[in-house]
Amino acid sequence: DFEIAIKVVIVGNGAVGKSSMIQRYCKGIFTKDYKKTIGVDFLEREMEFDGEEIRLMLWDTAGQEEFDAITKTYYRGAQACVLAFSTTDRQSFEAIEIWKRKVENEVGEIPMVLVQNKIDLVDQAQVTGIEVEDIAGKLNIKFYKTSVKENFNIDAVFEYLTERYFLD
Ligand code: GDP
Ligand code: MG
Repeated sequence: DFEIAIKVVIVGNGAVGKSSMIQRYCKGIFTKDYKKTIGVDFLEREMEFDGEEIRLMLWDTAGQEEFDAITKTYYRGAQACVLAFSTTDRQSFEAIEIWKRKVENEVGEIPMVLVQNKIDLVDQAQVTGIEVEDIAGKLNIKFYKTSVKENFNIDAVFEYLTERYFLD
């Protein structure tokens, strides 16, 4: 049986919700005081695209979110990438371009998507809609507003990345 596996890396500053997103998508759960490390390199979920069985392997960082602290093993062979920031954390938004460059330095150009998580906290937003649209346009990258907490748009992010993987 032929099966396609896609390695997806999820990068962004600490506490933007990367581990939560992986848990949500792969296990269907959300917890508020989720442990920093999940103790494994990645979680996976099967999905179908164009009649094919696809296995998405979502790689989590072990909580070392400084740009240079993440090991080569983390990036090696990555085929798609989520660039994540938080609605309530301006610094995490300002770090997006650096994260993008970091990933491209390690693995070259791969399908990417920009994710503004914690959209349920929009009343505490530290970034405007225009600013997000501007950077998405400048980087030429599709963006999704998500809430891992409310399970809003999480599936859409990974469906989009899978689609891009096959169309590119
Ligand atoms: P990471 O450091 O990027 O892996 O972030 P975590 O997944 O550990 O999440 C950091 C904190 O943000 C945790 O307390 C999560 O429960 C919380 N969190 C994650 N996603 C959301 C969201 O969409 N909305 C809200 N309100 N909290 C979230
Ligand atoms: Mg984490």
